[in-house]
Amino acid sequence: MTTIAFLGLGNMGGPMAANLVAAGHTVHGFDPVPEAVTTAQGNGVETFPTAVEAVAAAEVVITMLPSGPIVKKCYADILPASPTGALFIDSSTISVDDAREINQQAAEHGFAQLDAPVSGGVKGAVAGTLAFMVGGADDAFITARSTLDPMAGKVIHCGSAGAGQAAKVCNNMVLAVQQIAVGEAFVLAEKLGLSDQALYDVITGATGNCWAVQTNCPVPGPVPTSPVNNDFKPGFATALMNKDLGLAMDAVAGTGSRAPLGTHAAQLYKAFAEQHSDLDFSAIITSLH
Ligand code: NAD
Repeated sequence: MTTIAFLGLGNMGGPMAANLVAAGHTVHGFDPVPEAVTTAQGNGVETFPTAVEAVAAAEVVITMLPSGPIVKKCYADILPASPTGALFIDSSTISVDDAREINQQAAEHGFAQLDAPVSGGVKGAVAGTLAFMVGGADDAFITARSTLDPMAGKVIHCGSAGAGQAAKVCNNMVLAVQQIAVGEAFVLAEKLGLSDQALYDVITGATGNCWAVQTNCPVPGPVPTSPVNNDFKPGFATALMNKDLGLAMDAVAGTGSRAPLGTHAAQLYKAFAEQHSDLDFSAIITSLH
């Protein structure tokens, strides 16, 4: 079993660390927020007053932090303090450029490092069924599997450093466009006198089918577990979709790509997030009537 430092014990990191403990690993945690620390202790995580102390005996160091600048600052603090041979895994959602920068930073200190962002949300983190999209060297990926597996439903090696974040940003741009398109279709159907259930039954058996309708259906009824049936409580909060679309737009601009639909979706979510950042992102349908 492995000694794993886990930095960032929030909504995602807390349950991920708990699953590592449940799998028999020794987990050394750090988070600046006392409530996060108390919950982690209750789940069997041994906590430390600083990140530097948490990594001191680590064979693997996982970060699950809010943003790229925070991850970069954290790496600057812990890289000089980490034991030789430690493997670094960053599961935060950050830009591809930041992911490549911290991979380089780690390499300069002699450490292997992977970007391994996730999808599946807090539910997936609790259930240990997250999808990990991993970027980095083959041997580091192989070493990481025994750490990632207890937290994962699926682990995909996407390519070299930054490839995991690239996959995440592309997937979420597709998801944003699809959730808006599905919302538009239900609003149009209503105006045409078509029932929600009839449209759901047709789309889910036809070429328009996608996760945004099949699982995250934005009208009440057809999918009892979708957030619309629970006052649009997330699920996947609009604030997080807005963050991910910001990263997608940076990537579009940085690569000179054309993404007219992704760009429009980013504008719509930015405006929607000003009022409704804490609702599930499928609530965008309420702005389409
Ligand atoms: P969160 O805000 O609940 O947790 C982040 C934690 O990091 C907080 O507890 C915070 O105190 C801690 N933190 C901040 N600076 C720190 C530092 N220097 N060292 C250690 N801990 C520090 O956020 P979350 O929902 O857990 O998301 C974490 C990451 O996962 C984000 O990058 C987010 O975009 C991504 N993500 C979230 C979801 C989701 O559904 N919540 C889904 C996929 C990906």
